[in-house]
Amino acid sequence: MILNEEQLELKAMMRNFADKEIRPVAAECDKTGEFPMELYKKVCDMGINCLDMPAEYGGPGLSRVTSCVVREEMSRGDAGFALTIGANSLGMKPLLLAGTQEQCQHFADIVNGGGFSAFCLTEPDAGSDAAATRTTARRVGDEYILNGRKCFITNGALANIYTVIATVDKEQGAKGLTMFLVDRDTPGISIGKHEEKMGIRLSSTTDVIFDEVRIPVKNRVGEEGQGFYLAMQTLDQGRASTAASAVGIAQAAFEYAIEYSQIRKTFGKPICKNQAIQFLLSDMAMKIESARQMGFLAAEQVDNHTPWITKFGAMAKCYATDVLQSVVSDALQIYGGYGYMKDYPMEKLMRDAKIYQIFEGTNQIQRIVIGGQLLKEYKVKN
Ligand SMILES: Cc1cc2nc3c(=O)[nH]c(=O)nc-3n(C[C@H](O)[C@H](O)[C@H](O)COP(=O)(O)OP(=O)(O)OC[C@H]3O[C@@H](n4cnc5c(N)ncnc54)[C@H](O)[C@@H]3O)c2cc1C
Repeated sequence: MILNEEQLELKAMMRNFADKEIRPVAAECDKTGEFPMELYKKVCDMGINCLDMPAEYGGPGLSRVTSCVVREEMSRGDAGFALTIGANSLGMKPLLLAGTQEQCQHFADIVNGGGFSAFCLTEPDAGSDAAATRTTARRVGDEYILNGRKCFITNGALANIYTVIATVDKEQGAKGLTMFLVDRDTPGISIGKHEEKMGIRLSSTTDVIFDEVRIPVKNRVGEEGQGFYLAMQTLDQGRASTAASAVGIAQAAFEYAIEYSQIRKTFGKPICKNQAIQFLLSDMAMKIESARQMGFLAAEQVDNHTPWITKFGAMAKCYATDVLQSVVSDALQIYGGYGYMKDYPMEKLMRDAKIYQIFEGTNQIQRIVIGGQLLKEYKVKN
């Protein structure tokens, strides 16, 4: 896919913002684990703190392809920062799929006002197997009462509003799951463990605990039993963006490596003069470009509402995040021993990169999804 003028301009603007505003604070935030609130305010002022929010709710109203362009450049600046912004979109998506206008507007008012949201699916015993969700939603009159513990929630401690998946009937497995919109200040919500992470350290990852939390029925998103479908649709549609993030981090590693290869000398010449180094760089560039294009292909399925959203979304997420691993590893190799040291950017990029093969569905789960889609598509007729 070739970007149009508008997309190229936006890409250049975001690249500039990442270089001038995100990168200068990212290394320090990585050390402290603090989220850069001042930087977030700037992103809010630019109106891009929830990339998937439609214009009718005051958001940027970008196509999925264009939001991937922005997400890539933001992630090139800092992965954890881009993830925090991405979690806002993940929180809103179920509302756009099945929520009421009132729910969407309520969410938009909070996030457009500088707030955060979080998507609460994972639990200690329900990660890849989301249907094993144990958080319960008990209906009493005009309310549901939520009880349970979510874990590994991005923006868990920052969020002003959560989308939460709970079961109204454990016996029904996936068919009992139901989605709710939950305000942070509802009594009974508390934040549990703050995770000490290997990478994307400035992003908040916590447990979110629900203890007799009373939610009005009007805060149910869609129907009872629709929660699993909505969660999977949300993830399916978001995977192009995860791929774009992986491409952005890989692009950062590549740019650092190609620059370093022209400065570092061994045996009296820059290491880039060695074919072995050029081959590494060439392979990195080929992999990044194909991952980027696969991400755009997945994004186009979302924009055009095709039946291939699930397949290409899983392919793009899986491929781009596997590419990221190999690119970051080769980029660090080009730095030699210096790449292993905290004084150079490669060490952080490698720590940031790993999570992309794990969250939003592990790459094993993506391959299961792709396999399932392929067997449907190529089903032998008896
Ligand atoms: C930093 C971070 C941020 C996150 N943010 C969020 C968030 O905002 N919201 C949210 O809801 N969740 C979030 N998660 C949770 C994340 O999506 C889960 O960690 C992920 O889905 C995997 O679940 P698990 O950790 O329980 O691993 P498990 O499901 O226990 O899997 C363990 C291993 O077994 C493999 N495996 C499992 N089942 C199969 C199978 N059937 N076939 C083959 N292999 C299999 C997996 O691929 C993995 O390698 C986050 C996690 C992290 C670490």
